[in-house]
Amino acid sequence: MRYALINPIWTFEGSIYFGCRDPHLPLELGYAKQMLEGAGHEVLLLDATLDHLSQSELCARVATFGPDMTVIPTAPSYLFWRCPPPELRVPQQLVQALGAAAGIRILVGPHASTTPRAALRKVGGDIAVLGECEEVLVQLGSHLSRLQEVSGIAYLHDEQWRVQGGPQMVNLASLPALHWPQHFLSAHRHHHHRFDEPQQGFGAEIEASRGCPYACSFCAKTDHRDQFRRRPLDTLLEELDGLISQGVRYVYFIDEIFLPQRPLLQALKQRPVQFGIQTRIDLWKPEMLDLLGESGCVSVEAGVESLSERGRDLLNKHCRLKTVQLQERLIYARRNIPFVQASLLDSQVDDHAQVEEWRQTLLAHGVWANKPVPMFPYPGSPDYIKLWGVPDDLAWERAVDYYLQMFSEFSDIQEELPRPLEHLELGAAAAS
Ligand code: SF4
Repeated sequence: MRYALINPIWTFEGSIYFGCRDPHLPLELGYAKQMLEGAGHEVLLLDATLDHLSQSELCARVATFGPDMTVIPTAPSYLFWRCPPPELRVPQQLVQALGAAAGIRILVGPHASTTPRAALRKVGGDIAVLGECEEVLVQLGSHLSRLQEVSGIAYLHDEQWRVQGGPQMVNLASLPALHWPQHFLSAHRHHHHRFDEPQQGFGAEIEASRGCPYACSFCAKTDHRDQFRRRPLDTLLEELDGLISQGVRYVYFIDEIFLPQRPLLQALKQRPVQFGIQTRIDLWKPEMLDLLGESGCVSVEAGVESLSERGRDLLNKHCRLKTVQLQERLIYARRNIPFVQASLLDSQVDDHAQVEEWRQTLLAHGVWANKPVPMFPYPGSPDYIKLWGVPDDLAWERAVDYYLQMFSEFSDIQEELPRPLEHLELGAAAAS
């Protein structure tokens, strides 16, 4: 089989999306490529941004390749599956532009996982993969005529929607060490979520683990990357050493939660690379924070979310530390890590003056604490389910409308006023 794996040119005008807009490595497509090739398939992986391709150049490359199947993600890389743009405009435009050259159109990503029928209808896809996609994509190569045997997909059969099995979870031991083409890395100057200087070498994204043992109410991980698993350390280090040999000097661990792991930190300490993580500061003892800084960590984003125990309980944080202890831990971390952020959400129960005072205290110690941002009830998150039940085909529209009605102030990253989904997406494509 011939597979085209396409990361399109992402645009976010009018979106509530508040993730980073710089290009990142399409990890899910990278794994899929190596696994598909290992299974004997021919694969064309194109990342429009890293390959410097316009939409028409991208379509021409796909047409020349002549794929049996084209795989399109609904979010720009695994890093943003928990906080994707709600709108599907970019995949819609890509499918329209590709036309018949795409072959069978396979959607992967958060929309495909949580609302597969709506995603397929809107984009004009043929098969949606639910959950982590790598192993299912390999299976599809030998089961196209026996889709009923594949777990974790949705598709139209005899004008009836079939949704088979739940969200898939990959065995991380089966994933290879990723090897990226040099031109991808040379185009990747961005050091994700890094703010210290100087920034030398190329940047890259990598993962040590997937999932998280917690279940915060706002976190949209339930339908993908849910259960915590670690990659084998030797595979991870093989990938890291390959990146370093290609000129990478900063990696961002996209792990939902980078948990303390002494062998990994010691291995990082021996290598000429710096790194950033997202984690919970309550899980790091001072001694491990020392090792984290010594290992080359230059950026920590720590989800504190609320300053009151009531707020953290409402968000189901299961945080064992008191606010003052969290503050001490953050300030301690900042002693030898150049950028430490306490992420705050608008829990609706915190005292604004108290929050501002706390922010100023942290800022005085060099720790960045953002102004609390409104929570978007991502379909698939416990908050969404509490409000409206299991996501249906209008889940993303409902969540955006609610968000626009509830909040008049948005994240300071959002440059323009967000708009309702129907203003951002093309009309639903006819399912075929
Ligand atoms: S700790 Fe982070 S990744 Fe884990 S459930 Fe909470 S927000 Fe999600």
